[in-house]
Amino acid sequence: MNDPVPAELRARCPLITAEAANRLRAMIEHPDAPPWDYFCGNRVIAEDLPGLAAFAAALAKPSANDDRVSGSLLQTLAAAIPRTPILRRLLPPAADLERDWQDLPTTCRADLAAGPSDWIPDDADWSRLVCHGTSGTTGHPIIVPHHPAACAAYEPLYATALAARGVQLRFTPDRAACLLLCAQRRTIRYATVCALWDQGLHAKLNLSASDWPQPGSARRFLADHDSTVYTGDPDAFAALLQLADTGLHPQGLISTAMPLPPALAERLEAVFGCSAVDIYSLNETGPLAWRCPQGHHHILPPDVFVEVLDDLGQPCADGVRGEVTVSGGRNPNLLLWRYRTGDRASLRRDSCACGDPRPRLIDLEGRAPVRLIAADGGTVATVDVSRELRRFHLLRHRLVQRPDASLELTVLALPGDDPPVDADLALMLRNLFGSLPMTVTVAGHDWGGDGKVPSYASEMP
Ligand SMILES: [Zn+2]
Repeated sequence: MNDPVPAELRARCPLITAEAANRLRAMIEHPDAPPWDYFCGNRVIAEDLPGLAAFAAALAKPSANDDRVSGSLLQTLAAAIPRTPILRRLLPPAADLERDWQDLPTTCRADLAAGPSDWIPDDADWSRLVCHGTSGTTGHPIIVPHHPAACAAYEPLYATALAARGVQLRFTPDRAACLLLCAQRRTIRYATVCALWDQGLHAKLNLSASDWPQPGSARRFLADHDSTVYTGDPDAFAALLQLADTGLHPQGLISTAMPLPPALAERLEAVFGCSAVDIYSLNETGPLAWRCPQGHHHILPPDVFVEVLDDLGQPCADGVRGEVTVSGGRNPNLLLWRYRTGDRASLRRDSCACGDPRPRLIDLEGRAPVRLIAADGGTVATVDVSRELRRFHLLRHRLVQRPDASLELTVLALPGDDPPVDADLALMLRNLFGSLPMTVTVAGHDWGGDGKVPSYASEMP
């Protein structure tokens, strides 16, 4: 039988229905659509669905985890050791994971940067490998080996975070399911369908871009698709507020990548009449925690074991600050092994006043939004700087804007790579910021410990 769905689209979205394909074509060909510049699908196949359904069911039954790794996660990790290059190298062959857990080595971002393929099991199906570049807001972009089913699991994780605020999402074919909003000088734009949310429309849009077809196009495009959910960062939501009079009826707003300032969340909730939820999410883990009204981040996925470790790698007592460290997850191409995130918090397992029984991270730190100012007084988004820095193949960078607006950039090259040339970095900064006083330092490999140094800071008043 002839497939009414074009073969290319079928390859990108294997489960798409003919009806959803028609809706997608209408979105792509909408007279006010942005100039799409990327193709993206969900690549979810029927064999992925039972596992995703089981994950969603487990998410829907929140429970207070104890402070030990679960038996099933220990089994998964033990089975992965002989099949995964980095774990074979790192762990003693006779390690008793349960008994020795606290004394076994940890991993960190530098391990992933040095060899992403070392994390992929020998028997992985490489045809289902997806490579993600990290957002670069919490360190220099690195490649994260991903998997379509692990990407699709973002949808039930987002739905669970909204459900914690009393929202039950309802999707209808006349509306987009989820629009990912950006407000950057430049980013990719694509349109596709959600894997699990009723094959609803999903697109990534840039509200700041100047190349929408006509004045008012962004406004009309958003109104015509009246998305059920919007995801984005605080800059994108600040831009969405300017379009609030368009008649948008979101059921939920989800902020990832950078913390959603509480004042902005309140404003969004008042203007759009729906919940605005801050999610702590890393590309390596997917959405990890939601911020409750007490300001605490409750850990969402039951398949991730979260520890807070001191500088020697020993677990901190509940309530004592240390480095957030994660094990497990659902990405078969990146099973996390005591992975130190670089973010700092304390962990508590007692009950929270908000009623969510899940353990929570207190005073989570490491992702504060930073406002950088160009010579002409305009703002420069940190993500725009990160994108420019990507071509220098760095492991880390730190850009500080001093009180007099001068810039200090320090970079650390990837291990084994030639260090970048200072003058090239200075030229890149001048292109973004104009002629501000600046110093550029290419650091050696002693950046200062495993901890993640914030990539951006501003001391301007
Ligand atoms: Zn709470």
